[in-house]
Amino acid sequence: MKVYPNIFSNNPVDRVSDLRSDPEWVKKTLKSDKTMIALFWRGKAFVSTVRNLISGHADADQLSPAWFPLDFFKNQLTDQDNLIFLGLIGDMSFFAVDLSRLSNPEDVLGLNELGNFEDLMVLAPQSIDPGELAMIGQAKAIFEWNNSHQFCSRCGEESVMVEAGYKRICHKCNSEHFPRTDPVVIMLATYKDTAFLGRQKRFPPGMYSALAGFIEPGESIEEAVARELKEEAGIEIVKAEYHSSQPWAFPNSLMIGYIAESTSENFKLDEVEIDEGRWFTKDELKETINGNNKNGFFVPPPMAIAHHLIKAFVENKK
Ligand SMILES: [Zn+2]
Repeated sequence: MKVYPNIFSNNPVDRVSDLRSDPEWVKKTLKSDKTMIALFWRGKAFVSTVRNLISGHADADQLSPAWFPLDFFKNQLTDQDNLIFLGLIGDMSFFAVDLSRLSNPEDVLGLNELGNFEDLMVLAPQSIDPGELAMIGQAKAIFEWNNSHQFCSRCGEESVMVEAGYKRICHKCNSEHFPRTDPVVIMLATYKDTAFLGRQKRFPPGMYSALAGFIEPGESIEEAVARELKEEAGIEIVKAEYHSSQPWAFPNSLMIGYIAESTSENFKLDEVEIDEGRWFTKDELKETINGNNKNGFFVPPPMAIAHHLIKAFVENKK
């Protein structure tokens, strides 16, 4: 399959959804000596530089996700620790466990000398194997969903995680609940040799990016692209073309990247949403994307899909 540039994409696992729904298969697979388990604690993944805990792809001294065999835990995992299945790679099986119930998992499991729990936002820009970043992004999204959906939305009773993390059921009203992914459109509006970027108030000084927003119920992706550009910047478009997408587990989004063609260079900012915005020339963007900030602005780094939309525009690959 084609390799996409977006961080958290290109997940190498086979999710075998037919197998993971069988609790006996999950139990047997977990106990196999070809199983590896990643650790999570309160939204952070455990990373290490210890050679036999990290994959062969990792550079020396580069923190990478740590993978533990089941016997490392010496029966310290309980039913209260959410244990989820990520998938298979060849004959290896990958799981992740959420240790958030522990106030200090480092002491309980003897992790202090081995590494530390780290935020995925901190890990994403580093030179970590892209497949492993995608796998820990997958784990984070599933944990986020389970942790924020502990109770049945139909009757309010506590629900139970089943199917290795991909479903919750309510034993009181028998309803089934499935993981939620929130689709977000992120789009680069273009007009001739220019593209429109804006600044949200929360951005660091000098940073401009593509505009973005949640897709609303009953709306197509293309309609959301057109609506967001109209609402946030008063930009009317004639067409919108899909570029690529990016799972974004902060907490449960899927970023859907588009490049859109504007009818004119007219715009009018929604000043509540957008602090500043303007059309940038392809030459300006080319310098900025190559790391030259002499024009007094910069764009998001390669971990963000916005970077790749801008790059596609300056390289005429839209
Ligand atoms: Zn219920």
